[in-house]
Amino acid sequence: MTLPTFDEAMATSREGVAFSNGTEAECWMENYCGRCVNDAELRRGDGPGCALVLVAYEDRFPAEWTPDKPGHLGQQWRCMYFRSEEDGGDPEPKPIPDPPGQLTLAPREPFERPARMLAPLGTPQPAEVA
Ligand code: SF4
Repeated sequence: MTLPTFDEAMATSREGVAFSNGTEAECWMENYCGRCVNDAELRRGDGPGCALVLVAYEDRFPAEWTPDKPGHLGQQWRCMYFRSEEDGGDPEPKPIPDPPGQLTLAPREPFERPARMLAPLGTPQPAEVA
Protein backbone atom coordinates (compact mmCIF):
# COMPACT_ATOMS: atom_id res chain seq x y z
CA MET A 1 0.00 0.00 0.00
CA THR A 2 1.54 3.27 -1.09
CA LEU A 3 1.83 5.97 1.54
CA PRO A 4 0.01 9.18 0.56
CA THR A 5 2.06 12.26 -0.19
CA PHE A 6 2.00 15.17 2.23
CA ASP A 7 -0.47 17.08 0.01
CA GLU A 8 -2.78 14.06 -0.29
CA ALA A 9 -2.65 13.45 3.47
CA MET A 10 -3.31 17.12 4.23
CA ALA A 11 -6.28 17.14 1.85
CA THR A 12 -7.95 14.21 3.65
CA SER A 13 -6.99 15.25 7.18
CA ARG A 14 -9.42 16.93 9.53
CA GLU A 15 -9.30 19.69 12.09
CA GLY A 16 -7.93 18.86 15.50
CA VAL A 17 -4.93 17.37 17.19
CA ALA A 18 -4.46 13.70 17.94
CA PHE A 19 -2.68 14.11 21.26
CA SER A 20 -3.47 16.27 24.24
CA ASN A 21 0.18 16.76 25.16
CA GLY A 22 3.73 16.01 24.09
CA THR A 23 4.04 12.94 26.30
CA GLU A 24 1.06 11.29 24.59
CA ALA A 25 2.51 12.12 21.18
CA GLU A 26 5.99 10.84 22.03
CA CYS A 27 4.67 7.58 23.48
CA TRP A 28 2.46 6.89 20.46
CA MET A 29 5.11 7.77 17.92
CA GLU A 30 7.69 5.68 19.76
CA ASN A 31 5.29 2.74 19.71
CA TYR A 32 4.29 3.12 16.05
CA CYS A 33 6.53 5.41 13.99
CA GLY A 34 9.65 4.45 15.92
CA ARG A 35 9.63 0.99 14.34
CA CYS A 36 7.66 1.63 11.12
CA VAL A 37 9.19 1.16 7.65
CA ASN A 38 7.58 4.42 6.49
CA ASP A 39 9.72 6.48 8.87
CA ALA A 40 12.86 4.34 8.66
CA GLU A 41 14.67 6.65 6.22
CA LEU A 42 14.27 9.57 8.61
CA ARG A 43 15.60 7.49 11.50
CA ARG A 44 18.65 6.64 9.38
CA GLY A 45 19.03 10.33 8.47
CA ASP A 46 18.57 9.93 4.71
CA GLY A 47 14.93 10.75 3.97
CA PRO A 48 12.07 13.14 4.64
CA GLY A 49 10.10 10.78 6.86
CA CYS A 50 6.44 9.88 6.93
CA ALA A 51 3.95 12.36 5.48
CA LEU A 52 1.33 11.40 8.08
CA VAL A 53 3.62 12.48 10.91
CA LEU A 54 4.22 15.79 9.15
CA VAL A 55 0.46 16.29 8.88
CA ALA A 56 0.11 15.66 12.61
CA TYR A 57 2.86 18.22 13.28
CA GLU A 58 0.68 20.73 11.38
CA ASP A 59 -2.01 20.25 14.07
CA ARG A 60 -4.18 18.28 11.68
CA PHE A 61 -5.58 14.82 12.24
CA PRO A 62 -4.57 12.26 9.59
CA ALA A 63 -7.55 10.33 8.23
CA GLU A 64 -5.35 7.22 8.25
CA TRP A 65 -5.32 7.14 12.06
CA THR A 66 -8.36 5.45 13.59
CA PRO A 67 -9.27 5.05 17.25
CA ASP A 68 -7.73 1.99 18.89
CA LYS A 69 -7.54 1.95 22.70
CA PRO A 70 -8.60 5.30 24.14
CA GLY A 71 -6.85 6.04 27.41
CA HIS A 72 -3.97 3.63 26.75
CA LEU A 73 -0.76 5.62 26.41
CA GLY A 74 0.89 4.81 23.09
CA GLN A 75 -2.12 2.90 21.76
CA GLN A 76 -4.79 5.59 21.33
CA TRP A 77 -4.72 5.36 17.53
CA ARG A 78 -4.09 2.70 14.95
CA CYS A 79 -2.26 3.79 11.83
CA MET A 80 -3.51 1.93 8.77
CA TYR A 81 -0.10 2.34 7.09
CA PHE A 82 1.96 0.99 9.97
CA ARG A 83 4.25 -1.81 8.96
CA SER A 84 7.00 -2.95 11.28
CA GLU A 85 10.55 -3.15 9.99
CA GLU A 86 10.56 -6.71 11.31
CA ASP A 87 7.78 -7.63 8.83
CA GLY A 88 10.21 -7.51 5.89
CA GLY A 89 9.57 -5.99 2.47
CA ASP A 90 6.32 -4.61 1.11
CA PRO A 91 4.06 -7.61 0.42
CA GLU A 92 2.20 -5.73 -2.33
CA PRO A 93 3.62 -6.41 -5.80
CA LYS A 94 4.71 -3.38 -7.82
CA PRO A 95 3.24 -2.62 -10.25
CA ILE A 96 -0.01 -4.21 -9.19
CA PRO A 97 -0.67 -6.98 -11.74
CA ASP A 98 -3.88 -7.12 -13.72
CA PRO A 99 -6.24 -9.89 -12.61
CA PRO A 100 -5.48 -13.09 -14.52
CA GLY A 101 -7.78 -13.82 -17.44
CA GLN A 102 -8.97 -10.20 -17.70
CA LEU A 103 -8.56 -7.91 -20.68
CA THR A 104 -6.96 -4.56 -19.97
CA LEU A 105 -9.13 -1.77 -21.38
CA ALA A 106 -7.38 1.18 -19.76
CA PRO A 107 -4.20 1.73 -17.76
CA ARG A 108 -4.95 1.37 -14.07
CA GLU A 109 -2.21 3.60 -12.61
CA PRO A 110 -4.09 6.94 -12.99
CA PHE A 111 -7.04 5.50 -11.09
CA GLU A 112 -5.16 3.89 -8.23
CA ARG A 113 -5.05 5.83 -4.99
CA PRO A 114 -4.26 5.11 -1.38
CA ALA A 115 -6.91 3.01 0.30
CA ARG A 116 -9.06 4.39 3.08
CA MET A 117 -10.22 2.28 5.99
CA LEU A 118 -13.57 3.06 7.55
CA ALA A 119 -14.11 2.65 11.26
CA PRO A 120 -16.93 0.30 12.30
CA LEU A 121 -20.21 1.89 13.32
CA GLY A 122 -20.23 2.90 16.96
CA THR A 123 -16.48 3.52 17.11
CA PRO A 124 -15.93 6.61 19.22
CA GLN A 125 -14.57 9.46 17.14
CA PRO A 126 -12.55 12.35 18.53
CA ALA A 127 -14.63 15.45 18.95
CA GLU A 128 -13.69 19.06 19.49
CA VAL A 129 -14.34 20.29 22.99
CA ALA A 130 -15.27 23.92 23.55
S1 SF4 B 1 2.84 5.12 8.50
FE1 SF4 B 1 1.85 5.56 10.46
S2 SF4 B 1 3.04 4.42 11.96
FE2 SF4 B 1 4.25 4.54 10.11
S3 SF4 B 1 5.53 6.34 10.41
FE3 SF4 B 1 3.70 7.01 9.31
S4 SF4 B 1 2.28 7.69 10.91
FE4 SF4 B 1 3.87 6.49 11.89
